[in-house]
Amino acid sequence: MNWLNIDKTHVWHPYNALPSKTKILPVKRTDKTTIFLETGEELIDGMSSWWSAIHGYNNPKLNEALKKQVDIMPHIMFGGLAHEQASLLCEKLVKLTGLNSVFLCDSGSVSVEVALKTAILYQKAKNLNKYKFLASKNAYHGDTLGAMSVCDPENSMHSIYGSYLSEHIFTKSPALGFNTDCSKEIEELEKILEKHHQEIAGFILEPIVQGAGGMRIYNPSYLIKARELCSKYDILLILDEIATGFGHTGKMFAFEHANIKPDIITVGKGLTGGYMTMAAMITSKDVSDIISNSEIGVLMHGPTFMANPLACSVANASIDLLLNSSWQDKVKRIEEIFTEELEKIKGYPLVKDIRNIGAIGVIELKDDCYVQEVQDFCVKNGVWLRPFGKLVYSIVAYTIEEKDLVKIIRTMCEAIKSIKKS
Ligand SMILES: *Cc1c(COP(=O)(O)O)cnc(C)c1O
Repeated sequence: MNWLNIDKTHVWHPYNALPSKTKILPVKRTDKTTIFLETGEELIDGMSSWWSAIHGYNNPKLNEALKKQVDIMPHIMFGGLAHEQASLLCEKLVKLTGLNSVFLCDSGSVSVEVALKTAILYQKAKNLNKYKFLASKNAYHGDTLGAMSVCDPENSMHSIYGSYLSEHIFTKSPALGFNTDCSKEIEELEKILEKHHQEIAGFILEPIVQGAGGMRIYNPSYLIKARELCSKYDILLILDEIATGFGHTGKMFAFEHANIKPDIITVGKGLTGGYMTMAAMITSKDVSDIISNSEIGVLMHGPTFMANPLACSVANASIDLLLNSSWQDKVKRIEEIFTEELEKIKGYPLVKDIRNIGAIGVIELKDDCYVQEVQDFCVKNGVWLRPFGKLVYSIVAYTIEEKDLVKIIRTMCEAIKSIKKS
């Protein structure tokens, strides 16, 4: 395992120092929902590679799609050229979202950048100089510059980057709980929009679940009101479905819980079933028409690897696989198991809150100093989790076996119970 020494000396890991300040485990291979380490240990995957591996790893259908495409055309520039896999994928995304115009990009953060740029262009096309965004506290939209500027100002450490980040307007995040009344937060939203609507191009929001900014589940009524207010002030409603999309909350897209139509959505993570990096920004016909008929006339963005055929082909296969499976029943069963098992740790002294929806289960602790301890316990007991801050959470592939899911949740709980308070 000489390569692990190279990793230690030369390879930067996410949110880390070099050399790493936290333990890094060497992975040999993956299969279904198991991670095989070089050391011979096997871990049940409780993270689905950050919401992406919705079918588990090494799925024969996805492998086949990728292998087939590599012989046909691994890549081709998208400027001035079109290809079948991209068209088929965009058609699927249009059908699934009810929107119209798809811009394919290389990662979630980039799709957020493109969404923000699109909203500015849309307002400019209407002869409005609106350059600010409204965003939510506890939001997470990615790590690139524009995306970071609409993340929670504290979690994403705006203070570190100072004036490098542009300033936007933040509103209270909706109250915790799918059934919790959030009229107070709606009231604040109304006040902010009333005061600032002339400078706000768009309201960017993660629908139903705020992910990396706090794993917060909230009431669909907030989205309904946000839609209403955005329409009233001609502010684009941008829903970031990068984490929630493709079934994670029990609906194909989380905005379906509120039965609304956003102006723009971003998707990524689960889009290729966790195989390749790819994301998309999707807008209504109105948005693309207004930009295209304006003086500027074009959306000025074009990644080199836009619409990469390998990524498109595996995304097509992943969506087909999802639609041909009984994913709703599976996610529902996962939700039931999370509900049942998490209930057992409710009220435990170190636990502040438990919450879950769809394939997502969260334990919020009262303190943020147990991350490594919890992770070590889980790994020792055959489960891969990567807690952050006060949050010990799991997002699982829809194909996970019930006994494995139960083991993940029970290990999470045992890890917390094993903490020795110093
Ligand atoms: C992960 C994530 C992003 C960023 O996607 P990357 O592919 O990591 O750039 C943006 N928004 C949300 C809600 C996410 O969960």
